[in-house]
Amino acid sequence: MEDCLFCRIVRGEIPSRKVYEDDEVFAFHDIHPQRPLHLLVVPKRHIASLATVTAADEPTLGRLLAVAHQLAAENGSPDGFRVIINTGYVGGQEVGHLHAHVVGGNDPVGPMLKRI
Ligand code: 5GP
Ligand code: ZN
Repeated sequence: MEDCLFCRIVRGEIPSRKVYEDDEVFAFHDIHPQRPLHLLVVPKRHIASLATVTAADEPTLGRLLAVAHQLAAENGSPDGFRVIINTGYVGGQEVGHLHAHVVGGNDPVGPMLKRI
């Protein structure tokens, strides 16, 4: 996945405001934050979306969720946060490398979805 945007960010070819990295996942600030805290946590290995995961990806997905609380608390969202994983066309996914949005701040994020 040479040209994948988030693969390039993980490799450091495109700059990002990195907040965390381990052997499985990489986390950085979203370029267009929608809340006072808005991080993206991605697997280092290219996974297109939640729609393509296999059993082999389960430890990585676990790590991705397990680091969210620590990252939120350390980056200005001490009293909770929300994790969003947009998936595919219906889910509104724009970047084709699986990513969890971690959003928060000092105030409540608000309703989960706009009513239709
Ligand atoms: P999606 O809509 O796919 O769930 O979210 C993609 C997110 O990636 C968006 O919130 C967008 O602001 C963010 N994003 C897109 N390009 C870049 C980039 O080059 N750098 C960073 N840090 N975030 C990006
Ligand atoms: Zn990728």
